[in-house]
Amino acid sequence: MNMHVYAIPLRSRFRGLDVREGVLIEGDGGWAEFSPFREYDDAEAAVWWRAAREAADTGWPEPVRDRVPVNATVPAVPPEQVVETLSRFPGCTTAKVKVAADGQSAGQDLARLEAVRDALGPAGKIRIDANAAWDADTAARLLPRYDHAAHGLEYVEQPCPTVEELADLRRRVSVPIAADESIRRADDPLRVARMEAADVAVLKVQPMGGVRACMRIAEQIGLPVVVSSALETSVGIAAGVALAAALPELPYACGLATASLLERDVTDPLIASGGFLPVRRPEPTPEGLEATAADKSVQDWWNLRISRIV
Ligand SMILES: [Mg+2]
Repeated sequence: MNMHVYAIPLRSRFRGLDVREGVLIEGDGGWAEFSPFREYDDAEAAVWWRAAREAADTGWPEPVRDRVPVNATVPAVPPEQVVETLSRFPGCTTAKVKVAADGQSAGQDLARLEAVRDALGPAGKIRIDANAAWDADTAARLLPRYDHAAHGLEYVEQPCPTVEELADLRRRVSVPIAADESIRRADDPLRVARMEAADVAVLKVQPMGGVRACMRIAEQIGLPVVVSSALETSVGIAAGVALAAALPELPYACGLATASLLERDVTDPLIASGGFLPVRRPEPTPEGLEATAADKSVQDWWNLRISRIV
């Protein structure tokens, strides 16, 4: 099996990371990405490996559309960097804004949201992602202020850590709630729906074990689905695009235009054009592989990780 360990700097710090690392493998079905975050244990990483094997061995189901609407992603940057950040997502009229980042205040979040609304104009859509930072009371107190600063939020992604808190919060605020971590890191991804804890389900291919595994959950969960990346190279993003392209319904913009968060890519990157990504499967180029190769110690770490889970 052809294998490449990559290490790519991020343009802005994102979920506590300055460099994204992972592995690309090539099988009979094509190139695949395996990039569970370092802190994830082997059991969780093994699920990501299943997604990589699906892509490398079999490929993906047939698409029902040839392009996928995508959102811009705004990390926890100061307001004066918002316009430049949005310019990396050509044509995107929906923005997902990170809030409640470590060491940042609500005031900084509100200023960022106002700047995003100014940049997008009244027709744009703004969603926020709190990555489970709040308890239900804090979320219930802050969300109306965030909603006001943004002149309307499309939804809030994972405001609180537990499904119980999401269900409680959902009965107290008018902003729709999307579940992300509560689905992809849960033993039972359907519990969110049974508890009526969310309005939208965020699905990610690698953390959920592949495109087909996500298709099954989408079918069972009974909620509109947003497909997001796991901050991958364009090889990994292509799996998310394949899922978004194969779903019968796709009512929201997807979080798949994340290639531009990386300083470089392993191939001609999947970048938004007119607010859409084309449905295609890029292969790494020799130059892309060379420019992103990790140093020896990082390679050793990933080889060890793979040897423990296969
Ligand atoms: Mg999220």
